[in-house]
Amino acid sequence: MRLKSECVAISLFIFSFSGYAQQTVKQKIFTHADTLRGSITPERAWWNVLRYDITVKPDYGSKTITGRNSITYTAVKDNAGKMMQVDLKEPLVIDSVILNNKKLSYSQEGNVWHVKMPQQKQASKHSVDIFYSGKVHEAIRPPWDGGWTWAKDSLGRPWMTVTCQGLGASIWYPCKDHQSDEPDSGASLTMIVPDTLVAIANGRLQFRKENNDGTATYKWAVVNPISNYCIIPYIGKYVNFSETYNGEKGKLDVNYWVLDYNLEKAKSYMPPEVHNMLKSFEHWFGPYPFYEDGYQLIETSHTGMEHQSAVSYGNWYKPGYRGRDGSGTGWGMKWDFIIIHESGHEWFGNNITTKDLADMWVHEGFTNYSETLFIGQIFNEDAADAYNAGIRRGIKNDKPVVAKYNVNDQGSGDMYPKPSNMLHAIRHGLDNDELFRQVLRGLNKTFYHQTVTTQQVENYISKNLKFDYSKVFDQYLRTIQIPEFDFYFSRDKKKVFYRYSNCVKGFNLPLTLKSGTAKIRIIPSEQWKSLLLKENETELFEKAAIEKKYYVNAVQTGVKK
Ligand SMILES: [Zn+2]
Repeated sequence: MRLKSECVAISLFIFSFSGYAQQTVKQKIFTHADTLRGSITPERAWWNVLRYDITVKPDYGSKTITGRNSITYTAVKDNAGKMMQVDLKEPLVIDSVILNNKKLSYSQEGNVWHVKMPQQKQASKHSVDIFYSGKVHEAIRPPWDGGWTWAKDSLGRPWMTVTCQGLGASIWYPCKDHQSDEPDSGASLTMIVPDTLVAIANGRLQFRKENNDGTATYKWAVVNPISNYCIIPYIGKYVNFSETYNGEKGKLDVNYWVLDYNLEKAKSYMPPEVHNMLKSFEHWFGPYPFYEDGYQLIETSHTGMEHQSAVSYGNWYKPGYRGRDGSGTGWGMKWDFIIIHESGHEWFGNNITTKDLADMWVHEGFTNYSETLFIGQIFNEDAADAYNAGIRRGIKNDKPVVAKYNVNDQGSGDMYPKPSNMLHAIRHGLDNDELFRQVLRGLNKTFYHQTVTTQQVENYISKNLKFDYSKVFDQYLRTIQIPEFDFYFSRDKKKVFYRYSNCVKGFNLPLTLKSGTAKIRIIPSEQWKSLLLKENETELFEKAAIEKKYYVNAVQTGVKK
């Protein structure tokens, strides 16, 4: 079965609320189609996407779309007679492919289209127009089972959007559907819609034009690189209000797009949440990564998604996650989960994007951790500890967080709370919030607008925190073991003995144990170590206190010689 772990921490909620843990997970069999979708095939390797200029005209009545994607690219090497792999999912079909006013021939292999290209030299730049049309896969349960959503608002008027993370943008437009290749110079989305509706997309509105045939054309564009799955149309009875936020990098244009009948509610509810979000995340992660494109929050019928500079919002104008708290602590009910979580992805997911879906923890783990950081910043650190420990109830340890590479595979839904707990443990062990913050900001600066591997992220953290955390990453990202911290005291309680067990070889998570009056820092290993304790340090070795900050099982083994 396929885990529904896209974007929002919903998997966590599903697992928590419906006894999901009892399900057995079958080994997934990968097909040739998975390899075509998930790897850099020779037909993908020779070209690099520079821009997507997409035009789409949806027909609400027949649930069909007609469109074109003009793909601008450079040949990174001579194509040497190689085809160009273009992804577009059935039942949509490619109608024609035009290069320099000439039609190119192509063949179809399931969801992949092989286009016969003329000879193209290394470093040459081209633009190919791909025209397509047909029925578009309809979203069954967005945002997880994605596709095109043909909804109605509560007054029965058309309300459309798309969700396609994991599934891929090729569900609705032809592209190179691989996370590693973002259009370097941005993208535009032009929508032709009934003139009674408003069409919104990522970035900034370029123009609106009346077509005098009952339709209007809207063109939107971003200037920054963007993931394919983040380019999204929003079409409905939208109205707008806006403001300017004074952020770290200057003035940030903030736009809110909501259904007309929700305007007043939105005006009082959304801005304070957005301000808190920006305040907290710019502090921890650095400037919002897309000032040029602005920040938009756009109401949708589904819960929400991190679409770059055009964040989807469907959380009913209420704190929590549709009225619930995944942590069970109450702290999740004091802020709007969708505004905070989905916006957190602007840094981890949109600014720093993983090349392979297998490394998706970098998106979801850090973004889940952004919730803990947010609570610490807006409320207090005790609340942040409680929340972080609380979300552990969603961890199933069914399979590793990092999945298989090159087949568009996703790891366990644990990729939300488990890496978040790992990061929190690293931070507590480090006991230097300023250094920890500089590393989070450094990640966003070093990998600004880039696609990365988990290895790059892991190495950066170890190097800049000046400690080799590689076994800590292996433990939490690549195994399903919960490490055990064993300890016991000498009879006179003046000495403590401790070690790790049930862990990968070399697991070395540092622990800083603190109370109001005492503090010690230890680096346990699989070998027993001992420490002489001052009187007020004995109390630091207390199961609940250790487990509150560290995702380990703390076990006091009783007095031994
Ligand atoms: Zn997410």
